[in-house]
Amino acid sequence: MSTGRLDRIAAEMTLAAGAEPLFKGVRNPGAGQPFPGVICASVNHEVVHGIPSEDAVLRTGDILSVDFGVRLNGYCGDAAMTLAIGEVSADRWRLIDVTRRVLEIAIRKVVPGLKWSQIARDMQSYAEAAGFSVVRDFVGHGIGTRMHEEPRVPNFVSRELLVDDIVLAEGMVLAVEPMINAGGHAVKTLRNGWTVVTADGRCSAHFEHTIAITRGGCDVLTQHP
Ligand code: MN
Repeated sequence: MSTGRLDRIAAEMTLAAGAEPLFKGVRNPGAGQPFPGVICASVNHEVVHGIPSEDAVLRTGDILSVDFGVRLNGYCGDAAMTLAIGEVSADRWRLIDVTRRVLEIAIRKVVPGLKWSQIARDMQSYAEAAGFSVVRDFVGHGIGTRMHEEPRVPNFVSRELLVDDIVLAEGMVLAVEPMINAGGHAVKTLRNGWTVVTADGRCSAHFEHTIAITRGGCDVLTQHP
């Protein structure tokens, strides 16, 4: 099927749930058009913000990153996952598995009082030990009544993070979203102003959950039951 058809299904489900899509109509200074999709659908070397299209027909061996966010009863949820289409190569499966694991590392470790850099370091180390790299140009974020709230939640350690670290506290809600590249971490944006691709053309994977920090850890708010 095409990523355009997936987008129509997501739009219908959003409407049926009485929810409001978060991505459609978002403006970006670098793009001529507001984002046209309900979902972001990024295939293979596309990292994030892929525009769903009837022309983008999925083939066996592809990997598809779907990012989806809605507001329901005033509050936002944001989640992403990378799916294997048909039979994919072992290398691509490993990229998907490692990226999922990077998100799991964060979810398992989150607890009030911990500094985010301690978690980001573990996420980055795991990805790099697997021979992959962590995208630097896009990071997670606080989320609540708006999709993007403070703080920025990187999946890697930088001087900026160490200077202005986040101390986790009960009640914080964060969208944690590692994007992991099979090759180098550099990315570029296509001329449509939206689609972000790897600079070296190798594959990328993306997993995201919205998590609420609790007294003893966190609740994964976007986990499918
Ligand atoms: Mn997000």
